[in-house]
Formats: sequence, C-alpha cells, structure tokens
Amino acid sequence: MTFFESYDPAFDRFILGNAPVKRLASGFDWVEGPVWFGDADCLLFSDIPNNRILRWHAETGISTYRSPSNFANGHTRDRQGRLISCEHGLRRVTRTELNGSLTVIADSYQGKPLNSPNDVVVKSDGSIWFSDPHYGIMSDYEGFRATQELPCNVYRVDPATGQITAVLTDFNCPNGLAFSPDETRLYVADTGRMYQGDPTHIRMFEVGAAGGLSGGAVFHSINPGVADGFRLDRQGNIWSSAKDGVHCITPEGQLIGKILVPERVSNLCFGGRAKTVMFITATTSLYSIHLNCQGVQTP
Ligand code: MG
Repeated sequence: MTFFESYDPAFDRFILGNAPVKRLASGFDWVEGPVWFGDADCLLFSDIPNNRILRWHAETGISTYRSPSNFANGHTRDRQGRLISCEHGLRRVTRTELNGSLTVIADSYQGKPLNSPNDVVVKSDGSIWFSDPHYGIMSDYEGFRATQELPCNVYRVDPATGQITAVLTDFNCPNGLAFSPDETRLYVADTGRMYQGDPTHIRMFEVGAAGGLSGGAVFHSINPGVADGFRLDRQGNIWSSAKDGVHCITPEGQLIGKILVPERVSNLCFGGRAKTVMFITATTSLYSIHLNCQGVQTP
C-alpha cells in the first residue's frame, strides 16, 4: 500500500520508509480536535455527533474522557498545560482546570451568543484565539440547531482582562487556525459553508509586535477538501487536513506531498515522546503515522 505522494525531494526527508499509516481505533461518527497530553501519554479527541471526548492510550486503547462533552470540537493546551476546548452545544470556549472544573473563557460577544466555536490556539503570551463558524448550530447533528446572531468571526481573548475582541471579520466560515513557529504569522482556514464553489483556502496574516494582524491574502487553496484543521512543524511547514489525507505545504505556500488516508481527514496533531507522531482524526477513525519531523505544539 502506498501511504504517500511526493512532489518534491523536501517532502521525502519527512518520510520514514517503513512507517505505516495505522488505524488506531474506529467506529466513531465524526472525530475532530486531537490534542496530545505527553504527561499522561495519551491523546484526547472529540467524537462530535456522539457528544463525547475520547482518550487514546497506546496500552489501554480507547476510553471516555468526558461525556457528555457539550458537543466539543477543537482543543488545544495553554502554556500551563490546561485543556482549552471549543463547545458547540453551549456555544462557548472553556478551560479545564487542573482540578477538573471548567472555566468559561468566552460565550458571547457584544451581548450575543457565539455561534459554535470550532478550533482554538494559544499564543505564547497566553492570549486565546478561536474561530466561530456556524456549523454547530445549523442542525442537531453536531450540537443544537439555533439562530445565528453573530457573523462568523475569529476572536482573541486577552489573557490579562479576559476581554474578547473580534480580530478577523471578513471570513465566510473560519475554521482551523495556527501560528507559525516564531508567531510572526497566523494562518486561518476558510472552509465556507461546505457547498460547491465556497472557499477552501488558508489565508496568511502577519502578526505585529503588539499582536495586531495585517495582510490576509490567500496563502494556499486545498484541493480536494478543506483545511478543517492543521498544525505546523518546526520548519514552518503546514500539515493540513484534506479530503484525501494530510497535505504538506511549505511556508511559501507550495504543496510538496501528501499522506494518504482512506477517510476524509478533519484534523491532526503531533504527539509522542518526541512530537514526531502525527495523530489524524478522519471521519470514523483515528490514525497515526511516525514522521521524520517534529511538531511545534506546546507544551
Ligand atoms: Mg475544524
């Protein structure tokens, strides 16, 4: 079986010749939001339609981390190692404290409820950035059908004051987002309303010293599929979800190779003891592949 398509020798260096794309677990409905917990040697991820967050451990396999999960979608960890989660069901972003209690980070903007926070990233200054498309309130499948009251924005939460600011307001449906390793760039996907002809691209913004954003031109268009979720490696390459697997895109915006996955990919993250294992959430299954490059996730 062929696990890769390479279009550039630079991509070949990331590939270990004998490392397979492995299906770790299956039988879910739509998995998303993988996040690695090295201190617990496990991966957490969402099975959104089944309203649960699952845990995968190499020795013990799959167990339930949280159910119900308020239809949680994307996750990340802050610099203190705490879990930050996007919840469709209660239309909010939460932090799981080290004692297990939940703190609401954001649930409204200008007095109106958020749509359905989708994906989230934490900058080194502690600010929390999340996308708020409307997917989770369009039906009762991944949350609760509700009336949309806000545009689909990207928000930043100030770490000192907790104040929420709409930082990107010209998206159709913002989705995956990530900073470059040096945080001088912010990449944000627009996945449109998932209809034919909608945007399927990633835009790139320059991040100023004070955190302000400029630019925003289309950086790369995913084909086939959309950039539902993506992560970066230490060289600044973007590894993005796509319909046929994971696409590797250089900092110049060039597609140099693909990891082929038998199901439509939603998201991915790096993990394992050296952050060289890519965990891939794809429709009904969780996959992994060992690579010869390291992710930049912190912690
Ligand atoms: Mg997403």
